[in-house]
Amino acid sequence: MTPTGAAGAARARPVIDLHAHSSVSDGTETPTELVAAAAAAGVDVLAITDHDTVVGWDEAAAAARTHGVTLVRGIEISCAWRHSSIHLLGYLADADDRPLMDELVRARDSRSTRLERMVALMAADGIPLGYDEVLAQVAPDATPGRPHIADALIANGTIRHRDEAFRSWLGDDSPYYVGHYAPHPVRAVELVRAAGGVPVIAHPFTRTRSGGIDDALVERMREAGLAGLEVHHRDHGPEEVARATALADRLGLLVTGSSDYHGEGKRNRLAENTTAPEVLDAIEAASSGSTEVLRP
Ligand code: AMP
Ligand code: ZN
Ligand code: FE
Ligand code: FE
Repeated sequence: MTPTGAAGAARARPVIDLHAHSSVSDGTETPTELVAAAAAAGVDVLAITDHDTVVGWDEAAAAARTHGVTLVRGIEISCAWRHSSIHLLGYLADADDRPLMDELVRARDSRSTRLERMVALMAADGIPLGYDEVLAQVAPDATPGRPHIADALIANGTIRHRDEAFRSWLGDDSPYYVGHYAPHPVRAVELVRAAGGVPVIAHPFTRTRSGGIDDALVERMREAGLAGLEVHHRDHGPEEVARATALADRLGLLVTGSSDYHGEGKRNRLAENTTAPEVLDAIEAASSGSTEVLRP
């Protein structure tokens, strides 16, 4: 942040983007490239929130120092509820917390098995793909996901963008869809809190095959320590934003906004939605302090 005028004049409000992916999950840029892209896009505060892993944190921290970006270290945990996948952002949790890290390992292991089964179903139906081709798209130690199947289909010339694969074969309602182990969302909230972190539901009203989350579940998550809702997100239209805002208001939850940037893997642009500085302060204050916000 730089002063915009004489002493006492208004300072520019920082641009805060609290949800972005790197190549340690299904983003297309390395943590270093992600932070550089954030700096170039004018982001002052970035959260790295890869799916079910903290493995990108150290590299992102080094890049954040180089580029003068403030870094919030986070994760995005896939949770299973009824037939929906609910995503929980966890900010500033302790990366040495055994119960949380064990749960992430369990999820990542199950994700590998599940991708192999999806590829087998697709190949049996004549879609030209081998599991080895998919593995070639997953960076070392990265969390495997459906986008890596899409990347293998791009690499072998079947399609040109991940979107096409999700429309034709990879969607939640596809006959090739296979689920993976994922914790109940209330359990995930408890794990993040117990690890000193701050849980926020990502894109709560994204449309899924079973209609997604309901208010009663959010109330139960709130009782377990949920701190906020990601209200401002590309997957929400005006109706979802209104519904999420009203729910956050009623339950006393923080309201965040973010890009959910995936590099070239998704059309989302950095800082297309942002979070207010006061909300970031509240997130920081609610954390145990063992994982700090890294300021350059
Ligand atoms: P998975 O984690 O394996 O269940 O895959 C879900 C991930 O796929 C989510 O993180 C999304 O970011 C990504 N995804 C979903 N739909 C699309 C799409 N149409 N294009 C690109 N990525 C997508
Ligand atoms: Zn993703
Ligand atoms: Fe998500
Ligand atoms: Fe995400």
